[in-house]
Amino acid sequence: MAQSSETTDWVSRFADDVIEESERRAPGKPVVVASGLSPSGPIHLGNLREVMTPHLVADEIRRRGYQVRHLISWDDYDRYRKVPAGIAGVDESWAEHIGKPLTSVPAPKGSAFPNWAEHFKSAMVEALAELGVEFDGISQTAQYTSGVYREQILHAMKHRGDIDAILDQYRTKKAPGKKPQQKAVDEAELEAEEGSGAAAEDDGSSGSAGYFPYKPYCGECGKDLTTVTSYDDDTTELSYTCTACGFGETVRLSEFNRGKLVWKVDWPMRWAYEGVIFEPSGVDHSSPGSSFQVGGQIVGIFEGKQPIGPMYAFVGISGMAKMSSSRGGVPTPGDALKIMEPQLLRWLYARRRPNQSFKIAFDQEIQRLYDEWDKLAGKVAGGTSQAIGTGGGSALPGDVAAYTRAVGTAAGELPKTPRPLPYRTLASVADITAGHQDQALRILSELDPANPITDLADARPRYDKAEAWINTYVPADQRTIVREEPDAELLKSLDEEGRESLRLLVDGLADNWSLDGLTHLVYGVPKVRAGFSADATAKELPPEIKTAQRTFFALLYHLLVGRDTGPRLPTLLLAVGQERVRALLGE
Ligand SMILES: [Zn+2]
Repeated sequence: MAQSSETTDWVSRFADDVIEESERRAPGKPVVVASGLSPSGPIHLGNLREVMTPHLVADEIRRRGYQVRHLISWDDYDRYRKVPAGIAGVDESWAEHIGKPLTSVPAPKGSAFPNWAEHFKSAMVEALAELGVEFDGISQTAQYTSGVYREQILHAMKHRGDIDAILDQYRTKKAPGKKPQQKAVDEAELEAEEGSGAAAEDDGSSGSAGYFPYKPYCGECGKDLTTVTSYDDDTTELSYTCTACGFGETVRLSEFNRGKLVWKVDWPMRWAYEGVIFEPSGVDHSSPGSSFQVGGQIVGIFEGKQPIGPMYAFVGISGMAKMSSSRGGVPTPGDALKIMEPQLLRWLYARRRPNQSFKIAFDQEIQRLYDEWDKLAGKVAGGTSQAIGTGGGSALPGDVAAYTRAVGTAAGELPKTPRPLPYRTLASVADITAGHQDQALRILSELDPANPITDLADARPRYDKAEAWINTYVPADQRTIVREEPDAELLKSLDEEGRESLRLLVDGLADNWSLDGLTHLVYGVPKVRAGFSADATAKELPPEIKTAQRTFFALLYHLLVGRDTGPRLPTLLLAVGQERVRALLGE
């Protein structure tokens, strides 16, 4: 399976290029790909592409038998720039920490973690584990404060004139505008953009003493509001003053570990230090004068090369409006994994090229996505496609590749739901049973009487995801509430046609009590009433049948749930149960 996916999709093509480039630059060494994440607040779902793009490429390279390091740089030594809104356990008093490294800011109240960065990192680490993403995490706080980059810092200071000259080519240019395809950037995407490490686009400043690509964190207040006032290349003596607290001191950079290179120098320094071959970045990093482009020139100072760095488009969220109002924030990968299996989330990234934008569904669209996913699974499995009611046919090579990348990694398959019943059916069952698991199991066991589910565990975790989706993202007015009592008035007002249709349905319930049987029955009743066989196909029927079916379905919804519409009728009937259906239909 691994071999068959070669050269059939974007992941394979990047893998080809990355392997070739790695063998040219560092023959015989593990291939290095990288991502950067800033734990400046909750790491949003929009930022997951920063990890998934290199992950998928790294995974393809591993499948081909090469050694790969996927570095995730935790940009936790970046300055705390603002207090994000809507974080539990955080108030305005956190503003006093602005300017300190993210690892020096207290965690939200009640957190089990020692600081701000660790708190927000942990949720991402958990989500990445569930997604099967294998990586080497690198804390930039640990790197800088232990002096790992000492040589690189001294080198950058020595070559500050060269760095300044490169940066200067861009300083005269106007700040890059948004590209046209970014017009529809929504709130979540903007947040994601801000969350990325490069957002500050900081290139250091030129004081009266000249340009310095390095900024110390103040020895007194811990903030980066410092100005380097002098530097001696021979002794490495550096003097700075702090504009926040007035503190000033002279340190020896050859033994000082409390500061960092400015972002536009820091990033290319790390490309060279780690030998990064592949590191994609968001569109905001790729415009003229952006950190990726400037970094391509600065990396030469460190005797390194720019990685292959495709630009990726932003990922949007559908169903956000409801979310924002109810949750006061944009979703994280952990939020997505509460309502969908990791396979589905992986698939969304695998099937789209990085430059294609797409949306992750938190609204009704998730049901359609799952239908599409199950249909693909059926095609890939071959022959079993009939079982989930699709037309069969074989999957295209690109689709098979995306599927293969979604269900597992080079390390093996991800844990899966033993009986992956349709998500929309599970959602309906969870909706109607409102947390009563015995009832849910009863309904699920009746879906396919020939091969009944006997333990809810077989439908998990997909059942839990569908239940979480219903409970968290489906608005109250779209929830299904089965009538307690029959609608006597409506039943009394029925004409001959309505009464006969209901009788046909009720008489067929016992013999058709399964998902397939009830599907046949509810569609068949209007056909039989019109003088056709219940098995007649669309071609054999007049178009009016569709109208008759719609009218009949609307009647059933009114009698069962008091609305025009609801979950698919066969599922709804199973969920309500035979006895109660009979009662509500006036028997
Ligand atoms: Zn200070």
